[in-house]
Amino acid sequence: MTPHLPDPQAGAAVKAADRAHVFHSWSAQDLIDPLAVAGAEGSYFWDYDGKRYLDFTSGLVYTNIGYQHPRVVAAIQEQAATMTTFAPAFAVEARSEAARLIAERTPGDLDRIFFTNGGADAVEHAVRMARLHTGRPKVLSAYRSYHGGTQQAVNITGDPRRWANDSGTNGVVRFWAPFLYRSRFYAETEEQECARALEHLETTIAFEGPGTIAAIILETVPGTAGIMMPPPGYLAGVRELCDKHGIVFVLDEVMAGFGRTGEWFAADLYGVVPDLMTFAKGVNSGYVPLGGVAISPAIAETFGRRPYPGGLTYSGHPLACAAAVATLRVMAEEGVVENAARLGASVVEPALRALAERHTCVGEVRGTGMFWALELVRNRETREPLVPYNAVGEANAPMAAFAAAAKEHGLWPFVNMNRTHVVPPCNVTEAELKEGFEALDAALSVADRYA
Ligand code: PMP
Repeated sequence: MTPHLPDPQAGAAVKAADRAHVFHSWSAQDLIDPLAVAGAEGSYFWDYDGKRYLDFTSGLVYTNIGYQHPRVVAAIQEQAATMTTFAPAFAVEARSEAARLIAERTPGDLDRIFFTNGGADAVEHAVRMARLHTGRPKVLSAYRSYHGGTQQAVNITGDPRRWANDSGTNGVVRFWAPFLYRSRFYAETEEQECARALEHLETTIAFEGPGTIAAIILETVPGTAGIMMPPPGYLAGVRELCDKHGIVFVLDEVMAGFGRTGEWFAADLYGVVPDLMTFAKGVNSGYVPLGGVAISPAIAETFGRRPYPGGLTYSGHPLACAAAVATLRVMAEEGVVENAARLGASVVEPALRALAERHTCVGEVRGTGMFWALELVRNRETREPLVPYNAVGEANAPMAAFAAAAKEHGLWPFVNMNRTHVVPPCNVTEAELKEGFEALDAALSVADRYA
């Protein structure tokens, strides 16, 4: 791989136009300093000064097969040359083939695919389907979750980004999902955490009134909130509660799906089949925006003779679907899911555990596949986070120093609150991982100064 020749002048022009005209997501526009990116390939990207970064973030945890995979780029080019776009009411090859391949991989009998533009609108539609299917108004969702930035999806979300958007009258009730390291249930073992979290959910259902609850939505493995693997038995327990009360079980696999956990879907880790499953990101490595909902036969049947009141101009856009078809073939033929599972267990986990031994700032290591979090703390005993919840500015200085040190060493880290997530592409190589862990080692030494 040869990065383009450095061209700082071109970079300055890109940056100037960005600062003048691009309004960035989730940001105070005057306080950000976005890097001008000149190019990307595989697990790396580089700036206009020629500095190269190893991307341990997979973009926003979506380039599951890395940047610029030639087979996917070629498929997009071919689709563009033959049928760039076509309205959603028609059957077109790229769309039907993408739906067929996705349905083949999704757990159990989730065989109908409704396509969206991304993850948030997939969540919106899953909730709408559940409400119409059950005729009930409420949705139960977890604190410490992220389900998207559109109005209903952000209302369902259980992280601080909801606060500024929450209308308070959206029919959403939040509960605590299991997370032993910061247990809300005073649990000391995974078994206790699991049993008490299920009891808490059952009580919440009883007090809300089961007949008023359309859906329970969970990220199979909560991602943005900290890659918190649910204890064995939890998701099966939620499945049982949903069955008992006629509640639609929605699993959000927007981040955890398509190889991230070392399985095609995180639900496969737990042998659980939801009624609706949302996806996006890894479905086509984010090369063209695409998301969707995989639908059970019972819910599909609700809309067999009654129209589904919802849709999108670009639902199943042929370019996005062609990218999905190529991505799914690459994943299967190049063993990408197996790579994530194998290197996750043989390289990432031991490396992260070794880093945790050496660095006092590491409170916990958790994850699987290419989906890992390091929780950084001031004190391992008290587990006080390295920065306070939702810290900004000076209060966030330790995490900012950590990130700056990683970048200095050529690693682009994923940083959220007091955590860094190790989420490289699922087809990352062992050598790339080792390079990344050396940089991470150096950056954690900087964070140690605050611990
Ligand atoms: N659900 C989950 C679990 C996510 O991680 C995300 C995005 N990070 C979304 C939904 C929203 O997806 P999008 O940004 O594509 O709308």
